[in-house]
Amino acid sequence: MCGFVGIYGNEDVAPQVYDSLIALQHRGQDAAGICSYDSHTFHLKKGMGLVRDIFHEGNMVRLKGQMGIGHVRYPTIGGYGIEDAQPFISHSPFGIAMAHNGNVFNSWELKEDLFKNDHCLVGSSCDVEVILNLFRSALLKQKIKNKLTFENMCKAAKSVFERAKGAYTVVGIIAGHGMIAFRDPHAIRPGIIGIRRGGMKDEYIIASEKIALDILGFEVLRDLAPGEFIHIDVEHELHSKIVMKRSYSPCIFEYVYLARPDSVIDKISVYNARLRMGKKLGKRIKKLNWDIDVVIPVPDSSRPAAVGVSDVLKIKYREGLVKNRYIGRTFIMPGQAIRQKSIHYKLNPIEYEIKGRNVLLVDDSIVRGNTSEKIVKMLRKTGAKKIYFASAAPELRNPCLYGIDMPERESFIANQLTVEQIREKINVDGLIYQTMEDLRDCVVPYNKKMTPCGACMDGKYVTGDIDEDVLAQADNLRSCGGMGAQQSDQMKLI
Ligand code: AMP
Repeated sequence: MCGFVGIYGNEDVAPQVYDSLIALQHRGQDAAGICSYDSHTFHLKKGMGLVRDIFHEGNMVRLKGQMGIGHVRYPTIGGYGIEDAQPFISHSPFGIAMAHNGNVFNSWELKEDLFKNDHCLVGSSCDVEVILNLFRSALLKQKIKNKLTFENMCKAAKSVFERAKGAYTVVGIIAGHGMIAFRDPHAIRPGIIGIRRGGMKDEYIIASEKIALDILGFEVLRDLAPGEFIHIDVEHELHSKIVMKRSYSPCIFEYVYLARPDSVIDKISVYNARLRMGKKLGKRIKKLNWDIDVVIPVPDSSRPAAVGVSDVLKIKYREGLVKNRYIGRTFIMPGQAIRQKSIHYKLNPIEYEIKGRNVLLVDDSIVRGNTSEKIVKMLRKTGAKKIYFASAAPELRNPCLYGIDMPERESFIANQLTVEQIREKINVDGLIYQTMEDLRDCVVPYNKKMTPCGACMDGKYVTGDIDEDVLAQADNLRSCGGMGAQQSDQMKLI
């Protein structure tokens, strides 16, 4: 769960990279970084925490150059220190900087392999450093004598695709050669490219989500295709090639939870997909004859779904929970205890909308069940008569090895309890989950070319290389504190 951006403009781009990172902040709050390139050298600034806390006039002025890449981090692999913050730079060959969103689940093996066979030490536990070194090593193996060509770069990207298992969209700069980007052969993580015409030369942006384009006035060119490699050369000319295509399987959980509702991913509006999720739920709730007075979303990501439910049921939608947006770093701390305390800290009920009413709460998903349990408790204390709960996502059961932070299998409440038992545990009068079929129906008909990945719900890992051993390894890593374990304790309450 990270966000990235790359901008190739006509003047210093770091301020625009900063603005895009602010727009992508929801994708990661743990660390952030910007690397610019001014035709001579890279300028890098990384820090822990929120974008607004890391960058200021003093450090932005030195981020010179018409090319810049930026990153916001929410670790799914690696540690939590500054050494794992992105972007990463390698000074030879040429000088390459990279940032990504995704997860390379064989990165530990690759690190060993890179050391043994490619004589290259990966210093951090961040998987983009592995990708960077795979790419660089593939360039070195080509023994490039004169100019680095587009074909050389495509070969290097192909080698990354062959070796790095998982999902990743990558943006980078190659000194003296321009900007590059590539999306994994299953297109699991998002990546969109935009153009701004009318200046001295065409300017380009490549980002995790469309909002980064919107705020800077870039027009959408298209989403990156599965296995596509893109190069924008020093003349601002765009070159592209599908290096290796396997399937077109964007992550369905982006639509459920992660992306901003005003983004459009792979031609599908996130807002509309969420609205449809609500409508599907609404149709099924209608048949249950629940006695509901008011539909209330758990802010923020479930709002459009709650609107959809309310439209179908013709029962009023009300804001009954107010989220404190200014908690920032205080909330992003490891440890279950802090997270539990923070539920009250972060969400506060509006008594007027709740007291004496039968409430239907709509949330995007239930993972461990802690959030729903706490919210229900809070609403009961506030005087709700009956409480029903609807989840816009089906039961989550499987770790995501493609870049969404999820706990080990035994921590998913749906792996421990039946729906009826979950209803009892979270103490609601009725509980409904979306069905997988309905969820797919909210997305697939709107871009028929894709077969989205929903492995966290249905266990069908689209890359076809995840077996019980890999899953057991992921569970192990997670329970001994690797791969985002602390982070899942801090799960965002939205
Ligand atoms: P839980 O208490 O574990 O059931 O968390 C459920 C809440 O976490 C829901 O309100 C979701 O909006 C949110 N959520 C869902 N997936 C994630 C994730 N991968 N990381 C952080 N928060 C999440």
